[in-house]
Amino acid sequence: MLIAIDGPAASGKGTLARRLARHFNVPHLDTGLLYRATAAGLLDKGCRLDDVERAVGIARGLALVDFNEDRLRGREMGEAASVVAAIPEVREALVKAQRRFASRPEGAVLDGRDIGTVICPDAPVKIFVTASPETRAQRRALELAGRGEKVDYAAVLEDIRKRDARDSGRATAPLKAAADAVTLDTTLLDIDAAFAAALRIVAARAPA
Ligand code: C5P
Repeated sequence: MLIAIDGPAASGKGTLARRLARHFNVPHLDTGLLYRATAAGLLDKGCRLDDVERAVGIARGLALVDFNEDRLRGREMGEAASVVAAIPEVREALVKAQRRFASRPEGAVLDGRDIGTVICPDAPVKIFVTASPETRAQRRALELAGRGEKVDYAAVLEDIRKRDARDSGRATAPLKAAADAVTLDTTLLDIDAAFAAALRIVAARAPA
């Protein structure tokens, strides 16, 4: 069971991916963490986010486990990750490890921006999770507040719009739904309803 999930920031794709992975008892890879960890590695070394050589070195050296999620999930790192993720060489450096993860015999759930289009173009199940920018900003603001970050809804909404524009507008592997993905709009759905809808999509695409 290989499930590819893509969508913009705070669309609910991460929560959905984790629940699907648990449900089907397969491993889950949040590929956003790879870009976040690459950005964090650059910042830790005092490097600029456009230092391609260093960024590629850090990306190649990442293990896909044991991320310091607490630090990586902060607001600042999401923004930095999207800058680093627009560098084609960085994306290239991360392709192999993601495909290896996806090719486990038991299957996997991967979520990101280019899973259905670039990393796993043959995945039998592709879901493009989306929601209105305002709903996503509310969710992200709640999540950041829960992590103890001081948040301002307007600033979070501005972040989301900026990140959407950068992720969708970049030349390499832009954020977009694969032609054979099913779009799941979670604007009016809570997590249980979104999960139920995702299960219906999986059942329709991979009945076995
Ligand atoms: O999903 P998350 O918000 O953690 O991703 C952080 C950033 O990493 C995104 O805004 C995007 O620029 C980048 N990303 C990507 N491709 C992926 C996953 C994340 O470009 N597969």
